[in-house]
Amino acid sequence: MMRFGFDIDDTLINLREHAFHLYNKKLGQDVALEQFNALNKVEIHDLFGMTREEGSKMWVDTLEETYYTDCPAYPDAVETLQDLIKQGHEVYYITARPAEHGERTMKWLVEQGFPMKESRFYCGMKDQEKVNIIRELQLDFYFDDKPAVLNTLTDDTLRVFVKDQSYNQELEIPRITNWAELKELI
Ligand SMILES: [Mg+2]
Repeated sequence: MMRFGFDIDDTLINLREHAFHLYNKKLGQDVALEQFNALNKVEIHDLFGMTREEGSKMWVDTLEETYYTDCPAYPDAVETLQDLIKQGHEVYYITARPAEHGERTMKWLVEQGFPMKESRFYCGMKDQEKVNIIRELQLDFYFDDKPAVLNTLTDDTLRVFVKDQSYNQELEIPRITNWAELKELI
């Protein structure tokens, strides 16, 4: 039995691109997906001509819709995590989503087909604080997309993987592009 930890947004589900499409619709713009795909940073407000402040406000104002509408899971994410459970492994979620969104996020994940145990869901921490929970849980594997998180994880016993994204290309750690690749890692 091994313990697998996963970030949620932009690791298991395509949240940032989902937000990108919502922004286009809300702002009546038609920014091309190619521009989104070429971004070398996490924040997307530049594409819409917004300042950092305007971008933060837009993110907060759109959050409800971004989180709880039809954001797609990445291909094979649900199936891969379900397979891990079937094989007797443990699946943990470690997300920086605000604590007040914890319950609904769990419910939403279950509706999408992700395996869930309430005691294995952690939320409300800052990106830089994930490291403490990851250590406490003594995970064997951890997957995330964000350089700000991954750069804090240097534990020898933990195998860390980056979910491939346009803004994390500089990270020199093992990379996962499609979730179907996970079974070859274990
Ligand atoms: Mg993430």
